[in-house]
Amino acid sequence: MEPKNMTIPNPQEIEKEISDFLSKKYGNRVKVVSPIVMPENEASGDDTGKGNENRTVNFDLKPEDLIAYLDQYIIRQDQAKRILATKICTHFNRIQHQKRTGGKDEFEGRIKNNIIMIGPTGVGKTYMIKLIAKKIGVPFVKADATKFSETGYVGGDVEDTVRDLVRESDNDIELAQYGIVYIDEIDKIAASKNHYGADVSRSGVQRALLKPMEETEVEMKAQNDPISMIQEVEQFRKTGKREKRSINTKNILFIVSGAFSELPEIIRERTTDQAIGFGAKLNDNRDETVTMQQVKAEDLVEYGFESEFIGRLPVRSVFERLSRQDLFDILKNPNNPIILSKRLDFATYGIDVRFSDDALELLAERAFNESTGARGLVSVIEQALIPFETRLPSMNIKRFPVTSEIILNPQKAIDKWIPGEDNAGREKEFVRTKEENRKHLIDYITANRTKLSEQYGLPLSKYRIERIADYYWSKVVEIGTAISSIKAHYDMIKKIEINFYNRHDLNLVLEEDAIDFISEQLTNQSLNIDQIYRKISDDFEYGLKLIRDKTGKNRFFISEYALRQPEAFLEDLIKTEFAKHNISPDLINDQGRDYRYED
Ligand code: ADP
Repeated sequence: MEPKNMTIPNPQEIEKEISDFLSKKYGNRVKVVSPIVMPENEASGDDTGKGNENRTVNFDLKPEDLIAYLDQYIIRQDQAKRILATKICTHFNRIQHQKRTGGKDEFEGRIKNNIIMIGPTGVGKTYMIKLIAKKIGVPFVKADATKFSETGYVGGDVEDTVRDLVRESDNDIELAQYGIVYIDEIDKIAASKNHYGADVSRSGVQRALLKPMEETEVEMKAQNDPISMIQEVEQFRKTGKREKRSINTKNILFIVSGAFSELPEIIRERTTDQAIGFGAKLNDNRDETVTMQQVKAEDLVEYGFESEFIGRLPVRSVFERLSRQDLFDILKNPNNPIILSKRLDFATYGIDVRFSDDALELLAERAFNESTGARGLVSVIEQALIPFETRLPSMNIKRFPVTSEIILNPQKAIDKWIPGEDNAGREKEFVRTKEENRKHLIDYITANRTKLSEQYGLPLSKYRIERIADYYWSKVVEIGTAISSIKAHYDMIKKIEINFYNRHDLNLVLEEDAIDFISEQLTNQSLNIDQIYRKISDDFEYGLKLIRDKTGKNRFFISEYALRQPEAFLEDLIKTEFAKHNISPDLINDQGRDYRYED
């Protein structure tokens, strides 16, 4: 081959040529790992925040991405997920859009997408809004409508709630103006004929909400209020600016909710032919949800709301009651905070607690009978586990399987166990439960593989899924945290290749098993990434440079074996490569040593 001219090709061109050559020769089995030089701060995530407007707010989310996120946490409520995710995304995208186009209202009478949620207690209403607020990165406050009417200072209470947003956003008024205000038990302020007590104050609360729900300026507390003065000083110290002292509610999203237990009757009255007799199937859950989904403004007015109030709540969503199976599914969801919290409670005593399926079925059953939706789960689990939380820490028992047997008969179980000893029966159950848990998690990730891969930017091979599962069970974290953590390892490990190339001009390709081996060392914290990099440099730099300089080879595949046995690996590699180039093996040792001293 004759060089056409003397121009030296740039690295990308070289890489492309090599790639083409390799794929012609070996097909797709061989890949070129290109040494991409990363921008310095790319991996740091930049959450240091350059001013508040860059805080991790996520106003340009797409509805389906938000739905996918909610699916990871919330069982059922598909319709509510769709409606809330869509309308809340649109609300924030609209703000974003308006900012981009100059910040002025395009027209008078703009309608805000405030939301009314209908559904019984403990079915995920608060949970869903909290998750959404967290994902978007805006402050969230929850208040109770009944509280507003109790004090007699209705307007003040509503304003207090708005002001709470400022506290929630760390005194950042700007961010507070994009917050979410969630008011529960809104059905209790309906001035319905079925309610007793002062209707005046109920409609008073509705009226007090009208302005904030649309747009108003809510003053921060009076100047002589000590807390707000401290806040002001703090704000001045942080930003060097005298902050604006009122909150505009134009972009604050208001979400109200309630059980509205008498609503189905009102809807049926409107929709059904009177002669047929409504209410016949009122106890049927599906039926109740379907009926509720037909709710119209007029039904809510009939319920006891003023039409101006309902008019400011154009989005409606209905949450369904949860079945026993749903409660069980909630407990099995690896992101469920109830089980995670319980694991954390025991982990603080160094106890690894595992729940078997039959135990969870039993707990779901008990919670279902309490008729408080998923809220019952928390109390039922507390109640079942308290005897163990009391006894196990002093019994020095570290592995605790929660089976139906121990739930049915806690005292008997405790009596059987001897402090500090491995009870054979308990240990067997623990191992069984642990396996059951691990398998369930692997199945869960596998079933959601595509979505999770996309969301976290990490291709999920079977091996990686297992690593994620192990990580998940070794810590008390959500799935997303486990995936991010494994991904962070992979990203960091990949950087070794780049650094090695930049520093030593040597092209390392860490094979999958090597990456996993390193990842494991990082996970169990036997070494940190710098130590690993230094070790790889110490182990391989000289040997590989020797081969490169003698033979011209400059792509080295490093396997787990190579990392574990660098000397043996290098010795073999040098022998093989030298043999290929007919270099005398006698040279090896001398050359190796010489090279080392020269460098
Ligand atoms: P409410 O509907 O009364 O606002 P919450 O959202 O506060 O009920 O639910 C209480 C807890 O129950 C939540 O924190 C969550 O752990 C669990 N939970 C409720 N509904 C669901 C659901 N549909 N999917 C998963 N977990 C749920």
